Amino acid sequence: MHYLKKELYERIKSDDKIFDFLQQSALDGLWYWDLTNPDQEWMNAEFWATLGYDPATKPHLASAWMNIIHPDDLAAAKLLVDTHCADPSVPYDQVVRYQHAHGHTVWIRCRGLAIRDDNGVPVRMLGAHVDVTAEKEKELLLRKSQEIAHIGTWEVNLAKNTLYWNRITKRIHEVAPDFEPDLATAVKFYKAGDSRRLINEQLERAVATGESFDTELQIVTATGREVWVRAIGEPEMIDGECQRIIGVFQDIDDRKKTEDRMLNYSILEAKATEMEQFSYAASHDLREPLLTIKGYVEVICEDFSDQLSAEVMDHLRTITGATQRMDDLIKGLLDYSRLSQAKQWQSIDMNELVRQVLTDLGSATKLIEVNVQLGSLPIVYGYPLELKILVQNLLSNAIKYRRREIPLELTISCEESDDFFEIIVADNGIGIADNQRENIFQLFRQLHLQGEYAGSGIGLANCKKIAELHGGAIWVESVPGEGSTFHFTVRKELRE
Ligand code: ADP
Repeated sequence: MHYLKKELYERIKSDDKIFDFLQQSALDGLWYWDLTNPDQEWMNAEFWATLGYDPATKPHLASAWMNIIHPDDLAAAKLLVDTHCADPSVPYDQVVRYQHAHGHTVWIRCRGLAIRDDNGVPVRMLGAHVDVTAEKEKELLLRKSQEIAHIGTWEVNLAKNTLYWNRITKRIHEVAPDFEPDLATAVKFYKAGDSRRLINEQLERAVATGESFDTELQIVTATGREVWVRAIGEPEMIDGECQRIIGVFQDIDDRKKTEDRMLNYSILEAKATEMEQFSYAASHDLREPLLTIKGYVEVICEDFSDQLSAEVMDHLRTITGATQRMDDLIKGLLDYSRLSQAKQWQSIDMNELVRQVLTDLGSATKLIEVNVQLGSLPIVYGYPLELKILVQNLLSNAIKYRRREIPLELTISCEESDDFFEIIVADNGIGIADNQRENIFQLFRQLHLQGEYAGSGIGLANCKKIAELHGGAIWVESVPGEGSTFHFTVRKELRE
């Protein structure tokens, strides 16, 4: 034995001050238990001070601590003491929870050593406390933040060829808590194609060179959902050999999808701006020569009518009709390009909006029999003017393309999903042929004969643009001869 160590042992034996210094400065509690008379246990002053109690008020009895230790930990402690007494090779070392005098929990690392008589029978037990509350709280906080941020952990042990996933990593993969991953199956969770190729490359490089990685990839979970994840890996190298890779695994699906959506919106918006500028310029420039033609035809009709034959006058009237129609078309185009310019995002009561549109359409419905069934509609976030145009188009089409021989039945209702409100406008009109249902949302598509039904073929193209402006879509179901049902959706959480 080193002479200093030997000397220290002697001093501890002979000098109480040395022993007191050691137990008071190095430990948060010391206890010495009489196993032959297990009620009796001496605890030092630090033992109680750490737990917030006045040592003078606490008897040297085992029941004193048993009353304030967490019941689960007491059971575990008794079991471990018994095991250690029976088999000295099993250390007594555990973290237990005590209730502080002020009520909160104190986490204590408690280690003990059974002292045996000449026959090897344990007669005393010496124990030491270290307060690990700060570490424990940090650990709990970390676990909580990982939980909130959907951050899991994983570890590849190359020596043992094993893979460990913690609870959150398993949850992100949507596998059962007792699922045992291995490397081959883990890699197969990555979506075939770029994601799987990349993770394989990253892992190979990490093993070969010790280079860490931080990458965003897609997995397909056990239930078949595609989820974006961030995988971070830190290899641990010893003598140039990779021993293990520890890593973090985060579910970033919501963020990724929002980013994608934002990108799509920006692209759409850029395209829309370009289109708006083009059609605005085009429609202005187109109207000018048209108005000149119209003006001159009017002059000819008014000033030269006595010099022209009835046939020429008839042709001129046809030209006037055609220019008028062309002017209407261009005006329609102008509206289409203006649509997404005036933006005023606000909450809109769709019940109110539909009622307003029905009132506005009053003159068109005065002479026909219309029965309206208005279900309960939601409050949505959007552009009021645009949504009004959308509803107006759908309702005026329902009126225009009705079956004249029967009363018009109009039903307006709403269905709700997690992300969307779906507004449904159903009529019992002439209906739309199967092969035309997609086309009608394109500009200038008209199915029904000109003359029979006046229109420009722009209304539904506008509706499509408006639904898309609200993050939604528009579509129609129809039975020709029986009626059509238009559906449009408005995204719920969309904000300006
Ligand atoms: P239009 O100005 O011709 O009404 P729209 O874009 O509003 O233009 O509609 C395109 C075409 O879709 C219409 O010409 C019509 O043939 C058809 N359509 C629209 N709504 C209905 C409806 N409720 N019932 C039957 N057909 C319809």
